[in-house]
Amino acid sequence: HHLETLAYTDALTGLWNRNGIVRRIREYLADEVRAENSAALVSIDLDNFKDLNDCLGEEAADRLLGLLSRRWLDAIPADACLARTGGDEFALLLPDASHAESRLEALRLTARQPFELDGVEVSAGFTAGVVLFPDGAVEDADSLLRQADNTLYRAKHEMRSGWLYLDAGERSQYRARQLLLEDIRRGLNQDEFRLYFQPKVNLRTGEVLGVEALIRWQHPQEGLLPPSYFLPAIEHHTLNIQVGEWVLRNSLMQIQRWEQEGVRVNVSVNIAANHLQSDNFAGHLTKILSAFPGVDPVRLDLEILETAALGDLDKAVQTIADCCELGVTFSLDDFGTGYSSLSYLKRLPVNTLKVDREFVSGIEDNGENLSILQGVIGLSRVFGKQVVAEGVESVRQGEILLSLGCECAQGFAMSPPIEATLIPAWINRWRTFPEWALTRVSENP
Ligand code: C2E
Ligand code: CA
Ligand code: CA
Repeated sequence: HHLETLAYTDALTGLWNRNGIVRRIREYLADEVRAENSAALVSIDLDNFKDLNDCLGEEAADRLLGLLSRRWLDAIPADACLARTGGDEFALLLPDASHAESRLEALRLTARQPFELDGVEVSAGFTAGVVLFPDGAVEDADSLLRQADNTLYRAKHEMRSGWLYLDAGERSQYRARQLLLEDIRRGLNQDEFRLYFQPKVNLRTGEVLGVEALIRWQHPQEGLLPPSYFLPAIEHHTLNIQVGEWVLRNSLMQIQRWEQEGVRVNVSVNIAANHLQSDNFAGHLTKILSAFPGVDPVRLDLEILETAALGDLDKAVQTIADCCELGVTFSLDDFGTGYSSLSYLKRLPVNTLKVDREFVSGIEDNGENLSILQGVIGLSRVFGKQVVAEGVESVRQGEILLSLGCECAQGFAMSPPIEATLIPAWINRWRTFPEWALTRVSENP
């Protein structure tokens, strides 16, 4: 109990500390039965506290903080949470924001009442930033506090003393995101998402190595929407996991359908960072796979970003290893655009590097991109990985890749992403370009 008190309270004032209010905000957010009205989080900074410190000394200034805290505790409702988060900084959580304005006014008035410090009368003023929530995207305690702090910071620039609410423009952005999230949820329920598939081939032999599943949203009003329209909004949201599982299930279902038509296709699925990092990813994947007993897990390749391993490399390595046990393979997507860390490359048990199309575009006349490609291909040899180039748009680019020793690629030169029903016919028809078939592949570029 003592340790808990130390961890969550501020010794000087007896208020909660930053951890304490973070915990309270989390409890509030997790509370299923909380009222419909919004809450307010206020970040407070005392005005001219440094002057007071300089004039009266630290000890008196500390005493002021204690006295002020006691007065404020009396002025706030019982369900509110007041914390001292730093030197002269406070944070206040009001679970019911409907009276936020009068609560803040009350804090202002009580702070104005003179305090007696060593025979000197001083009064305090403050500046504050207010965030009303739940409002759109803002769903975690740290980001709420950050936004309240940012608003406070702006308030300090714009006014001498007083408070500012989180800017309307930002709030409408949050609201737009909230609406988009609801719409995505609705779209998932109404089965509006579609998978398109883009072939991945060996440029020299023409062999079709597989297809990459790329999600689209057939929106009833907006038409066919690309992933850039809706994936960024759910990047750090649990909806991303729901979407990811939908993609996995539907990719497996598609593999099964093709197999029934007599076409064997490997499918690569993009896995978002927070999906891979989510609890028991390998366990969930096992369950999804077991719903398709006819599909050999080796048909499935998972494309992950290097950043998916950033938080906890050991855990990512373990998750990937667990999935490999099931038979699935892994590719490191967009390689070259992130940290491209050699120690990650060494430790992550992936089979393939996918070079981002950023480095393929313009290789005809961009010497730097050419060198980067050469480097990545060299690295892949050192680490024993396959390389797949993304975004091959011309015969010339394919020739250059082949001359560098990169045989596998995807891109509009072969095919854009197309509907599942078109894949079998495409595979039948596809012949590689004569220019590519003739190229001698360099073993040591
Ligand atoms: P990515 O994984 O790098 O996928 C390749 C993107 O490049 C696709 O865009 C594809 O249509 C496009 N592309 C392919 N060949 C060419 C080419 O020759 N030239 C050009 N200019 N572009 C080409 P798309 O389908 O819009 O997807 C964008 C990104 O969205 C993907 O980038 C991937 O990061 C993400 N994404 C797509 N589907 C999913 C999904 O199911 N789950 C997750 N987590 N992410 C997905
Ligand atoms: Ca990809
Ligand atoms: Ca890419």
